[in-house]
Amino acid sequence: MSQKRILFVFAHPDDETFTSGVTIAKYTREENATVALLCATRGQAGKAGDPPICTAEELPAVRERELREAARILGINQLDILDYQDKHLSDVPIDELAGRIVSVIAKVQPQVVITFAPHGISGHPDHRAISQATARAVSQLAPDSPVKKLYFCTLPRSGPFPARTIYTDPDEAITTHITAPEYVDVTAKALLAHRTQHLSVERVFPGIAQGDYRHVRDTNYFILAWNRLPSYRLNGKESDLFAGI
Ligand SMILES: [Zn+2]
Repeated sequence: MSQKRILFVFAHPDDETFTSGVTIAKYTREENATVALLCATRGQAGKAGDPPICTAEELPAVRERELREAARILGINQLDILDYQDKHLSDVPIDELAGRIVSVIAKVQPQVVITFAPHGISGHPDHRAISQATARAVSQLAPDSPVKKLYFCTLPRSGPFPARTIYTDPDEAITTHITAPEYVDVTAKALLAHRTQHLSVERVFPGIAQGDYRHVRDTNYFILAWNRLPSYRLNGKESDLFAGI
C-alpha cells in the first residue's frame, strides 16, 4: 500500500486524545501514513475550567484552538470541524450526519475509519450519535470505496480504569490492541492542550498536571466492527490497524 490513511470520527474536541492518543501519535509518525480527524462539534456545552479560562461565549473558539493544538502535538495531518451543537448531535437526522461523514471520507480516502463504540464509552448521547452515523456512512459506501475497515474504540472490561460509570466491552470482544508506550508523553501533552477540560483530564489521569503520566494509557483498544476484506481472518488480537489490508 503506497499511502496508509486513517480517518477518526468523533463528537467533541478531546475525544480523539482520550480514546486514541498513542494510536494517533504512532501512525502520524509513520512515513507513509496520514491521519485525519473529523470532529462534529466545538464542544460548546463543556466546562470552561476552574477557574474559567474563558467565557461561555468564547468557549467554542477556545476549544477549537485547543483541538488544533492537540492535533498539532499528535501530528494529525488533516482536521475537519463541523458546526453542530454540543449535546444536540442526537437531534441531527442520522442521514444528514452520515452524509457529512461520507463527504469527508470522499476527501480523505481512508482505508480505515474509527469512531466510538455504540455505547459511547461515557454513554454521552453525542458519542452514541456519531458512532451510529459513522456506521451508517460506511454502510453506504460504494463497493469500490477505499474503506476496508471500520473500528469502534472502547475499553476492556478488565480495566484498570477510573472508578466512574463508563461502558466497556468484554476483553474477548476486543479485536485490536495498539500499544505504543513511546507516545505516552506526547499523548499527555495533547491531553493538557485541552486546557478548558483540565478537570476531566485530571480526574481520568490523576497527577497529569504535575507531570506524572503513569495513568495515561499506553494501549488503545478497538473492535473491528466491519470490513471489506473477503479473505481476511482474524488470528488472535491484531496489533496493526492495517492488518490484512
Ligand atoms: Zn466527548
